[in-house]
Amino acid sequence: MLELRPNCECCDRDLTPDSKQARICKYECTFCAACAETILCGACPNCAGNLTPRPIRPPAMLAKHPAATRRVLRAQPCEAR
Ligand SMILES: [Zn+2]
Ligand SMILES: [Zn+2]
Repeated sequence: MLELRPNCECCDRDLTPDSKQARICKYECTFCAACAETILCGACPNCAGNLTPRPIRPPAMLAKHPAATRRVLRAQPCEAR
């Protein structure tokens, strides 16, 4: 089950489970579209995997498997590469 994190690891912006702005890597590192595109150039700064739009979990599934509430933030700020 994909962990739907509530924020961007770079800028701590809120990302709702149905946000089309959420980007995610294979290891569930989560970023917003703005950081993914302008700062990270589509690559995860933690694991170097590619960032793809996060799938939207349908409301019925969301009720069954709620989104994560634990906020994850990088210790180091993201830098443009
Ligand atoms: Zn961000
Ligand atoms: Zn990653």
